Amino acid sequence: MPTSPESERSPKRHKSSSPMAPMASIPNVIDIAPMGSALMVLSELAGVKPVTLRLSRDMLTIASPIFATMISEASLAGDKISDEVLMHAAENDEPDTLYLLFNILHNRNEKLPSRLTVEALCKLAKTVEKYRCATSIGRGTAMWFDRLYNAAKAGTVAVDTWKMVEATYLLDESVFFARFTEMWVLAEDVSMKRLAVELYNRRHAQSGALKGDIDLLVNPCSVAFSKSARHYIDYAPGMMPDPDDDGKTVGSICHVDEGAATTYLGALRDELIWPPLAWPTTLGALVSQLQAFRTPDYDDCDKCDFCEDVKSRFGLAVDIVKKMHKDRLWGLCLDCFKAGGVKDGECRYEHSKLKGN
Ligand SMILES: [Zn+2]
Ligand SMILES: [Zn+2]
Repeated sequence: MPTSPESERSPKRHKSSSPMAPMASIPNVIDIAPMGSALMVLSELAGVKPVTLRLSRDMLTIASPIFATMISEASLAGDKISDEVLMHAAENDEPDTLYLLFNILHNRNEKLPSRLTVEALCKLAKTVEKYRCATSIGRGTAMWFDRLYNAAKAGTVAVDTWKMVEATYLLDESVFFARFTEMWVLAEDVSMKRLAVELYNRRHAQSGALKGDIDLLVNPCSVAFSKSARHYIDYAPGMMPDPDDDGKTVGSICHVDEGAATTYLGALRDELIWPPLAWPTTLGALVSQLQAFRTPDYDDCDKCDFCEDVKSRFGLAVDIVKKMHKDRLWGLCLDCFKAGGVKDGECRYEHSKLKGN
């Protein structure tokens, strides 16, 4: 954890000044890389606010593609003080965690705490994942995992094994991933194991159900491309328009439905809802995308009596899917779980039991 930022403040903060940004505008500098030319402003650190970290531009660029982008964007935007590039930490990043991360990345081993709590380690893992710098961290976190693992094994500290599994996964820490997953497999009580299996199955089933829901949306669109729906304007499918006086066929194919279907499928694709290959990585993100989905405007005033009415059928399907999702129990019902499947009678958590819920 950061000690006193004050004590680390560089005595000669800035070698050169720029008329555009006076030196005094950089508050409370901590030199993580004394010769570094990248500055990152944190809103607060150890009670001091704000704090500016001096970092190595090269180190950040090599360590993380995200930091590399931040640096080049700041350079392009002219966020500089003389030749030092100035960045601002993202609001949702915890200053303590960033400070720890930068100390690891810059090999400041003397600044690293000998112990880290499970929470701090998990926060670090999530930040490392966000900035995609697990490779650069290497085995830098092994010492903390080692202490927590031994403490958990000895029973001196209650460690949330599942959190540790997640942290080791995010940090790509193979040794402790194996050890903590082993601990989980061996220590988790049997009913919890069944719960994990049920949750996994549940997720799998929900993913299948979502595919079905999306079929409901795609179905009214796909009909527009079928041969059986193909028709001339104002003529039923299969019928040829009446010939004119010269015996030639007049009239043209009706494209109203096709236009609607193309528009809607394109919108589903843009919102990562369809096809399943385009889905976001979590079901939650997909469900949010569906909830936020707005049917694009489409003018079907030219439709004829033989159109399939893709516009209103698609709109209806969107409404149905949204409504189903509002009522759906995505997780598990405890009463049903304890009953080993579906509980007879009422559950304390109200949910539908028609379709395997
Ligand atoms: Zn038509
Ligand atoms: Zn139930």
